[in-house]
Amino acid sequence: MNICFCVECRFIFPSAHLPGACPDCGAKKVRYASYKERHEYKQFQEIIREEIRLGVIPG
Ligand SMILES: [Zn+2]
Repeated sequence: MNICFCVECRFIFPSAHLPGACPDCGAKKVRYASYKERHEYKQFQEIIREEIRLGVIPG
């Protein structure tokens, strides 16, 4: 699984292959995420997991 990044809306998402367009905004400005962006994505996932655990947001 690769982590992709949309330059247009800064959406970071996992994908097996680099899509032609962003699944969020539809812009054709998607590239593979850099090391820093992948790190950001992982941190974001951890925050989400923690919030689900604490009941802040529904799982
Ligand atoms: Zn986008």
